[in-house]
Amino acid sequence: MPPVGVPLVIEKKKWAVRASEFAKSTFNPIRFIVDSMKMEQHPDKYMISLSIGDPTIFGNLKPHNATIEAVHNALDKMTFNGYAPTVGYFEARSAVAEFYTTPETIISPNDVILSSGCTHALDLCISALASRGQNILMPRPGFCMYRTLARGHGIHSKFYNLKPEASWEIDLAHLESLIDGNTVAIIVNNPNNPCGSVYSKEHLLGILQIASRYCLPIIADEIYDFFIFKGEEFHPMASLSKNVPILTCGGIAKRFLVPGWRMGWVLIHDRNNVLNVEVRGALNALTQRIMGSNTLVQGALPDMLRNTPKSFFAETIATVQTNAEIAFEKLQQCPGLFPVKPQGTMYMMIGIEMASFPEFATEFQFVERLVSEQSVSCLPGKCFEYPDYFRITLTIPKEQLLVAMNRIIEFCYDHYIEERNVASNIVLIKEEQVHTLDQTIPHGFHT
Ligand SMILES: *Cc1c(COP(=O)(O)O)cnc(C)c1O
Repeated sequence: MPPVGVPLVIEKKKWAVRASEFAKSTFNPIRFIVDSMKMEQHPDKYMISLSIGDPTIFGNLKPHNATIEAVHNALDKMTFNGYAPTVGYFEARSAVAEFYTTPETIISPNDVILSSGCTHALDLCISALASRGQNILMPRPGFCMYRTLARGHGIHSKFYNLKPEASWEIDLAHLESLIDGNTVAIIVNNPNNPCGSVYSKEHLLGILQIASRYCLPIIADEIYDFFIFKGEEFHPMASLSKNVPILTCGGIAKRFLVPGWRMGWVLIHDRNNVLNVEVRGALNALTQRIMGSNTLVQGALPDMLRNTPKSFFAETIATVQTNAEIAFEKLQQCPGLFPVKPQGTMYMMIGIEMASFPEFATEFQFVERLVSEQSVSCLPGKCFEYPDYFRITLTIPKEQLLVAMNRIIEFCYDHYIEERNVASNIVLIKEEQVHTLDQTIPHGFHT
């Protein structure tokens, strides 16, 4: 007998193959926004893309030989062609544990779970901690993948504000005000994409204090660990936590300049065994959904982590820092633009004083016109839940960056209308808009 309610013969006379609810509620807003942008470049100007967060696309930043060699050797050994345990080979996890162990933070191989890139590490953590209807706190502006991963599962995203006037530190009072009975974790991205901020020890301790008060674990997205400019200091969240469990997500994508190799990890820091068997078990179980990460790269990890020289990372950072300085200095001269100086990573956020560009209703239109008039593409703030800003990527060769900056300056001079003239200018266009425009001029925006 079939269970009650299940028909014995399914009668279907018409093809009606539908996508699942899960699939339909999964989408990446960046793709959606970028696809909806008019991307027709100026016919006489070659295209310069400052929009893509992939350091390999220009060919100027290449992985180190030792990184490449490590994969060659792993391939030649012929021992990495089969299945590994779904959390990863012990040797590979040991190498990651060794790489991240410091006197303050001892990590054992059992605290490491290998994943298919840092994105998958984030997916594991979000899926392991949150159920449908619960919520996770995440930064705004922020990496949109957090929301994408949560949405499919019916997990709500609550956005805490970052403060541009304080080098994008978290508005801690705002973060705290968002916490409710259904909050299960806080995502902290440091160093940060899209802002390029690097948090001080004091600030991180402030975040930990709140997490501790409400007993919330932290998912620390530290894919840009050590991607910091001269004079800055990076503090892994886990190194500062006394009682808050930290799931640190990382990987080789940005640091080793091989995002396509899809290798990442979760580091479990849980001094007081709060996560216990249950959450560790959940993370383990979830790795089984894809039968673990790429074994060839796992085989290469020990050599890659040990043999890639520190000087390689320093050179990459120096290249990006030089670009950051050039871009900041140039954009500061731009009327109506307010770049916020980055302290690390590969990005910079730039504020647009929208009232001075009355032709454009949104930053989205500003970015679109920058493509059609100057063939320079950037990501609108909308991609990071943050209007009136745009993000540029700083991994491009210096010569191209200089051309792009000059084009942006020209574009701003073409469209900028001085604040005190904005009102009178608008009167000519449309009288009734004056009142609303006056109210939207962001006074004190410069600070
Ligand atoms: C690039 C990036 C990731 C994803 O890294 P993969 O290893 O390529 O999945 C995660 N978080 C942030 C903030 C990133 O910028």
